Amino acid sequence: MSPRYPLEGVVSWNMNTTCNYRCNYCTQRFVDDRKTWARDLPRFVEAFTALPGDWEVKLSGGEPFRHPGFLDAVRGLVEGGVRVSVVTNLSSSNEVLDEYVAIVNARPGVFSASLHLEYAAPDEFFARLRRVESAFAGSVNATLVATRENMDRVDELRAIWPQLKVQPEKQDRDVVAYSAQDRARLQAWGGHNGTGWIDPDFSGRDCWAGARYFIVDHRGDAYRCYPARRRKSESVGMHALGNVLDGSFRLGMKAAPCAYSYCNCTVPQARGMVDTSRRV
Ligand code: SF4
Ligand code: SF4
Repeated sequence: MSPRYPLEGVVSWNMNTTCNYRCNYCTQRFVDDRKTWARDLPRFVEAFTALPGDWEVKLSGGEPFRHPGFLDAVRGLVEGGVRVSVVTNLSSSNEVLDEYVAIVNARPGVFSASLHLEYAAPDEFFARLRRVESAFAGSVNATLVATRENMDRVDELRAIWPQLKVQPEKQDRDVVAYSAQDRARLQAWGGHNGTGWIDPDFSGRDCWAGARYFIVDHRGDAYRCYPARRRKSESVGMHALGNVLDGSFRLGMKAAPCAYSYCNCTVPQARGMVDTSRRV
């Protein structure tokens, strides 16, 4: 049986590759050009606000606050009735964060802050996150990439922020080879972003990604989900959904079988878009 129709759809918009950090585990560190961002924001906003039904747009990058038109895009989406979430490294000034919160409080989603220990001191990071939390009408989230070095600090960090979520480290977009002991620790911390899984395989199961979830890059190219983007050379309609700016975008109408052996997409798992209750 297919999972129930998700009342709210979700777009993950990777709006820029630009970032002020260079984390050694960043999955984008081999991207040729880390200075690109979505141009023509009004057309992106128009495309997202025209989607059928209720939608949330999750803004990420790179570091989305580094996009020169970031706050304008947020304002346009909120005014268009879209709920807005963000994934950020929390390095922006308090003034900019305050402005973001003031705009987005009309349609608040999730404010997700990723702690990068090469660049941010935990005490200061969590103090800034508490400051955001005190004014923000949506929910606040903190994440950490669980490199082998970082794993030894999770307990110390959770003493400051008990709900800290971990994300398995990836190399070439696959989860690195953790020892059985480290996998058990990751599992005990809730798996990837609290989904309960580290590198699950849902292939063959019906999933709403492609119909009620999709991802868009800074060029406007849209894909069913992150594993679909990895196979972007394959035919439009199977993995790629076209481009949201040039009229070729086509959204699926129903749940369809997953074609990938590793799902690293938190949203479809966390929103019940695919049945994650069974082990494979
Ligand atoms: S903050 Fe995020 S996008 Fe920027 S380098 Fe680190 S992992 Fe990559
Ligand atoms: S990889 Fe995940 S999000 Fe993509 S179709 Fe499969 S279950 Fe859905």
